[in-house]
Amino acid sequence: MRLLIMGPPGAGKGTQAGAIADHYGIVTISTGQLFRDNIQLGTPLGKRIESLIAAGNLVPDELTNEMVFQRLSSPDVRKRGGFLLDGYPRTLDQVEALDGALIRSRRRLKAVIALVADPNQLIARMLKRAEIEGRADDNEESIRHRIEVYHAQTAPLLDVYHDRGLLVEVDAEGTVDEVRERITGSLDAKLGQPA
Ligand code: AMP
Repeated sequence: MRLLIMGPPGAGKGTQAGAIADHYGIVTISTGQLFRDNIQLGTPLGKRIESLIAAGNLVPDELTNEMVFQRLSSPDVRKRGGFLLDGYPRTLDQVEALDGALIRSRRRLKAVIALVADPNQLIARMLKRAEIEGRADDNEESIRHRIEVYHAQTAPLLDVYHDRGLLVEVDAEGTVDEVRERITGSLDAKLGQPA
């Protein structure tokens, strides 16, 4: 099972990624979380990207691609045989880079989950999350910017994966369990497995 999960900031990607990966017994690779871990640990990468992330800008493609490819080729991911990429790719160049990496390792994506959310709800959801998680990029200015960046750079990827027949659109409204069941139901229907 090799999957991507996409969606605008605040749609609940990270939460769903964990639930879906548990359901299928695969590894989650969350670029946002990997970046936050690097910042917290004070690594050279973390120091380089801290202000970009706080402002809601994307990390440059080369840095992001390299980090993802390292994880994709690590023994635990290879052993499990499946992965769910959460928050990657986010640009057309990252799509191309991922295509190349998958071809080189003779792996193919099975499906791309796209969470669909009401734009008016996103900011409120993220401000609520800010109170719980205290993320540096969950302030109103950065949130608005991240939503703009999503529309400009990441939303076009939906067409690419739609044209490849991989896109599975799922309504992101509801409880974590409701959304997870919707996602696994749609994936099982698409991939021809029992729900
Ligand atoms: P997320 O946790 O997915 O919302 O990501 C948090 C932040 O990490 C984003 O706003 C970006 O600054 C950065 N980030 C995460 N994934 C990527 C990516 N694929 N490309 C560039 N920057 C990313």
